[in-house]
Amino acid sequence: MNLLLYGAPGSGKGTQANMLRTHFGIPHIATGDMLRAEIQAGTALGRQAQPILAAGQYVSDEIMIGIVRHRLGKADCAPGFIMDGFPRTVPQAEALDDLMHELGKRFDRVIYLKVPVEELLHRLSGRLVCPTCQRTYPPQTTACAADGSALVQREDDKPEAVRPRIEIYLDKTVPVLDHYRHERLVSEIDGRGTIDEISSQVLAAVNGKHSSPLMGKSPAAGRAQGALPEKPGDGAKTKTA
Ligand code: ADP
Repeated sequence: MNLLLYGAPGSGKGTQANMLRTHFGIPHIATGDMLRAEIQAGTALGRQAQPILAAGQYVSDEIMIGIVRHRLGKADCAPGFIMDGFPRTVPQAEALDDLMHELGKRFDRVIYLKVPVEELLHRLSGRLVCPTCQRTYPPQTTACAADGSALVQREDDKPEAVRPRIEIYLDKTVPVLDHYRHERLVSEIDGRGTIDEISSQVLAAVNGKHSSPLMGKSPAAGRAQGALPEKPGDGAKTKTA
């Protein structure tokens, strides 16, 4: 079972990936977690990536493709994997097609967790994360419910990085969805609701009991994510919804 989770920062990919990992017993490949581990370990890659993540920008396609190529070649991916955070650009999607082809694998399903931009901004601002298990929590929570660790704020959840992350997602990552729509692989799931409700829809989609209402239709469908609302105090600029 090879699955790809697609969605904006704050859409709940990590939470659903954890559920799928437990359910199917296959590894969760989260490129953001891999980069944060490199930063934590102080490697050359980590030192290079740290200011890029802090600014909410993307690490180069070349580096990311290299990281994913190395990871997918490991033995634990043989029975399947859950990809989260990659591909984030069209060149990454094309490189992943080639890599999957080389490995003789294909994606069974692409799960798109769809959340309106206003909701994403609300979720990310003030969000806290467990440094041990990466679960996320709303502001003011003090400790992780799973392991009791003191929660921290991710550097890129600070207000100055949140908008650039959404901006780059709308610009570079929304077009990636069309790449998979053309292959009729996408199941679109409303990312609002309880975690359990969303989990059961994700599982239904993976088990082939759900098909996206937008699957294979208009190329504009990928734009359904919406546009970034203006910053407070930006004046009367026109919205490009
Ligand atoms: P989120 O989806 O909440 O932004 P991630 O943990 O997936 O969080 O990613 C954190 C950061 O890691 C991204 O903002 C980006 O800087 C970097 N990153 C992760 N995956 C990629 C990728 N495929 N291409 C470029 N940069 C990436």
